[in-house]
Amino acid sequence: MKFSEEIKRRRTFGIISHPDAGKTTLTEKLLLFGGAIQEAGAVKSNKIKKGATSDFMEIERQRGISVATSVLAFEYEGTKINILDTPGHKDFAEDTFRTLTAVDSVIVVIDVAKGVEEQTEKLVEVCRMRNIPMIVFINKLDREGKDAFELLDEIEQKLNLTVTPLSFPIGMGYDFKGIYNIWEQNVNLFTGDPRRDIEETVEISDLESNELDKLIGEKAAGTLRDELELVHGVYPDFDKEAYLAGNLQPVFFGSALNNFGVRELLDCFITIAPPPRPKDSDIRKVEPSEDNFTGFVFKIHANMDPKHRDRLAFIKIVSGKFERNTPYLHVRHNKKLKFSSPNAFFAERKEIVDVSYPGDIVGLHDTGNFKIGDTLTEGEELRYKGIPSFSPEHFRYINNADPMKSKQLEKGIDQLMDEGVAQLFTLELNGRKVIGTVGALQFEVIQYRLEHEYGAKCTYENLNVHKACWVEPNDPKSEEFKDFKRVKQKFLAIDKQGQLVFLADSAFSLQMAQQKYPNIKFHFTSEF
Ligand code: GDP
Repeated sequence: MKFSEEIKRRRTFGIISHPDAGKTTLTEKLLLFGGAIQEAGAVKSNKIKKGATSDFMEIERQRGISVATSVLAFEYEGTKINILDTPGHKDFAEDTFRTLTAVDSVIVVIDVAKGVEEQTEKLVEVCRMRNIPMIVFINKLDREGKDAFELLDEIEQKLNLTVTPLSFPIGMGYDFKGIYNIWEQNVNLFTGDPRRDIEETVEISDLESNELDKLIGEKAAGTLRDELELVHGVYPDFDKEAYLAGNLQPVFFGSALNNFGVRELLDCFITIAPPPRPKDSDIRKVEPSEDNFTGFVFKIHANMDPKHRDRLAFIKIVSGKFERNTPYLHVRHNKKLKFSSPNAFFAERKEIVDVSYPGDIVGLHDTGNFKIGDTLTEGEELRYKGIPSFSPEHFRYINNADPMKSKQLEKGIDQLMDEGVAQLFTLELNGRKVIGTVGALQFEVIQYRLEHEYGAKCTYENLNVHKACWVEPNDPKSEEFKDFKRVKQKFLAIDKQGQLVFLADSAFSLQMAQQKYPNIKFHFTSEF
């Protein structure tokens, strides 16, 4: 197949949702359609389950699953589909944000009864900021839920989207009869049998024909006609360009558990969702069709085998072909590296691949060369933008609990930070180390992994910080900046990149600083 054809047939996307909306179930049904798995239950949920096991056992279980589900690739109707896993748990939101830098589009799953939930809001906002094309799937139509129009309103308001339904439910819950597919103009009747893999759809090209009445009953047919008229009156027609630009979001209804409405979603998805998109670097925009390989690290996963401290760095290929045993430039280290066993990921296995194309993800074995955001090229010194660190929300001093193992501790902390587990700040005043995380669970992860992977022990000590923000003076030599540094000395730290960070102890003191120092910018992500 020609290089350009390989690019065109790839779809790399993520499914985002609040926990329990049905992301795992939907993923599984998509894989069943692709023939990538044979039975339901094969995809493990990446959810953190509280309860039966102790927390760190749970973390280990979770890590095992998360490497297995990092990328799920399958073929469907000539399309190569790569689903990138996005943890739904809020403590791992940063992983998800980073993964969103590697997707070309997303599917947002919403529970018909719960509507728009907190985690959905945060994740959709990140997608909106990046103009990522989104398709919305409203799930669990076999249950009683909110009225379809009410839900569409809620999505527009809370998520700030412009929606256009491409399917519409006929009844709901106990009365759920099926779905009218606006996109394909047919009716799909709900039988509640999840084992069918071919749905019985009935073409209804003329909504006024009494065929519809025979199919779903006069009353339901009347309601459906009224509702569809309203849909046409209220919502914009589907426009592919608007969808691709992130300005219009098509909506599908269905029931993932019953494998209902999923095929319609998938068929529309492969038709409209974008193939790999161009990406901005610090010096220029890079097109997927360029001959030279470029890619970037969006995720690092520590090996599960504690005896081998190697890791897998996940690279999204942006342009060109990635070939095995070929030297590539690690731009940050200005060093050529060769990879003898790059992994590609499939639903239930990973395998060594010789060639990968834009849109694909390869896993590279790494002994500590990579950190999140690193760029690989064939020699060009460009760096990909768009992988910021977010302002952490939880802070603790980290102390060495075993003086004999200070080297191990240092190395462990260094590598865990490169993986993006948390952020390290060094106080200007006394050199003490502070760990900042987005979720509280990460402190346990760090402690457990330092001990089991690096043989080092740490303890934590509380520290009162409200928010960390990156400081950027308009003029580093100004009296204003000097005054700020003197007055706030106790609250200043340096991050791993050497950037100055203000650890504000309260919302009030942050606000006061912003007022008092108008020529200093306070940023909430590391990229500005
Ligand atoms: P995730 O946390 O978003 O990955 O959600 P899961 O896929 O694990 O689903 C959460 C729960 O909702 C599970 O018990 C599923 O069986 C259930 N579920 C998923 N889809 C449907 C559906 O269409 N209808 C019903 N009734 N339950 C569903």
